[in-house]
Amino acid sequence: MTDTIFSKIISGEIPAEIVYEDRQCLAFKDINPQAPVHVLVIPKKTIVKIADASEPDEKLLGHLIVVASKIAKDEGCGDAFRLVINNGEKAGQSVYHLHIHLLAGRNFSWPPG
Ligand code: AMP
Repeated sequence: MTDTIFSKIISGEIPAEIVYEDRQCLAFKDINPQAPVHVLVIPKKTIVKIADASEPDEKLLGHLIVVASKIAKDEGCGDAFRLVINNGEKAGQSVYHLHIHLLAGRNFSWPPG
């Protein structure tokens, strides 16, 4: 299995500004924030991208979304935030360990760029 920046954050090899951690997941601030609040929620289990997730991952994926929503509350985002998963290079994925972007603190347009 190939190491990624995120697997190194999970193992503690690379530091990160961690805002939440439990048995299944880790959340930390994005190093290059695209909004005043920009947190990444990642599973500790290695899932390369959302397209690789399968039925046994359903509970974990639901957990990641619930955690992201709780962090949004803790970060004072109210009900205005966006969750994003980029899948594959053309969709903007640059780190091949599944992550949910939690973005908040500014207005967002639709459709996204
Ligand atoms: P994506 O382009 O959807 O794969 O998102 C990857 C995200 O990881 C980008 O927003 C990067 O800024 C962020 N990122 C890359 N390296 C780090 C790091 N060491 N700590 C925190 N965030 C990172």
